[in-house]
Amino acid sequence: MLQVHDLHVSYGKARAVLGVSLHVDKGEIVALIGANGAGKSSTMRAVYGITKPTQGRVTFEGQDITGLPAHRIVPLGVAQVPEGRMIFEDLTIEENLLLGGLARRGSRDEQPMRRVLKLFPVLQPRTSEPASNLSGGQQQMLAIARGLMSEPKFLMLDEPSLGLSPLAAQEVFDLIVTLRADGVTILLVEQNVRQALAIADRGYVIESGRVILEGTSEQLLNNELLISAYLGVKRQ
Ligand code: ATP
Repeated sequence: MLQVHDLHVSYGKARAVLGVSLHVDKGEIVALIGANGAGKSSTMRAVYGITKPTQGRVTFEGQDITGLPAHRIVPLGVAQVPEGRMIFEDLTIEENLLLGGLARRGSRDEQPMRRVLKLFPVLQPRTSEPASNLSGGQQQMLAIARGLMSEPKFLMLDEPSLGLSPLAAQEVFDLIVTLRADGVTILLVEQNVRQALAIADRGYVIESGRVILEGTSEQLLNNELLISAYLGVKRQ
């Protein structure tokens, strides 16, 4: 579904992504893991057209989307939930959701709203409340719900568990599994390696702008380097 080949991203002279290649097949959850500043978000933003890659090629369902702006990528069925949620706290939950729908449809279609809210029982009775009333975990749910309003077939999530309690983070991971069961293909950027790989089919480990490891979640969870560097466990 998504192919990224030899992607490079720079910010002025600073090189953030140095030749990342990866793919995501239809129906998969693929995790992009790595430490702070490794280049995960830059990779995702370059796919989504927020940052222009300096080199490389991105294709979605066979169509070259390299360097296309986000507003041309969203109609293809791609959505992104940015790091830090970026919800509008002064707007109501409903208004936040409507903004997500406008990105694709340009209209106030109520069908996606009904469908999306069914997945979020915590938001459903509170749509007229300001988003600022929500807890961190609920705001993350709102950010994901807003991403779903454009009815994407491919969803990219940037650190959805960041800053959440273990319980709220688990709810977010459970939701991601539900979304996949509903037919959404997912690329998940996470620092929470163990939980990300627990739900992912495959993963890529990024370090200093390069993919240093890739494999099935099981292979990665048994990899000595990943265990010592990212899971903080030394094997006997
Ligand atoms: P994090 O978890 O902190 O978001 P990350 O793996 O997603 O980490 P990126 O955010 O892609 O990493 O950052 C990769 C490198 O690019 C870092 O050195 C970062 O400081 C730099 N960088 C990211 N965004 C910008 C920007 N807008 N301008 C300049 N440098 C940037």
